[in-house]
Amino acid sequence: MDIIKSEFTITEKRCPLCRNLKNIEEFDKYFSKKRQKYRPQSYCKLCSKEEKARRSKEYYQTHKKERIKYAKEYALRPENIEKNHQQRIESKRRRRENLSSSYVRDLMVQKFKFKNSDLLENPDLVLIYANKIKLKRTIKKIKYGKK
Ligand SMILES: [Zn+2]
Repeated sequence: MDIIKSEFTITEKRCPLCRNLKNIEEFDKYFSKKRQKYRPQSYCKLCSKEEKARRSKEYYQTHKKERIKYAKEYALRPENIEKNHQQRIESKRRRRENLSSSYVRDLMVQKFKFKNSDLLENPDLVLIYANKIKLKRTIKKIKYGKK
């Protein structure tokens, strides 16, 4: 006789989710420490799989909402408003200093009415303009001895 089959006294079980009466082999088993024997899971294999996916999705959604809520509340705290403001200034300063491509693209959009999407497709143009700025900055530095 099959060992697994012999572990259970029942041969059929009704799944509480799909309400189908199914063969016990259609249920996963787990080892019950309390009873010191294998027991069939409450949901059938099919429902278990669906239930697991649903719960994991739900967990993700709930925690995503919590995280967004927390981030919003965090940003609105008075001590963080000033900190954020400083961070934005510092980030802009760094982007300007390093001539980050997003900074250069922003300038080109403002100055020449380029579309950001066009610039993303033509990184050469962004590089040329970045080099032009670099050159201007270098000339200025030589002329006035400062950035
Ligand atoms: Zn089921």
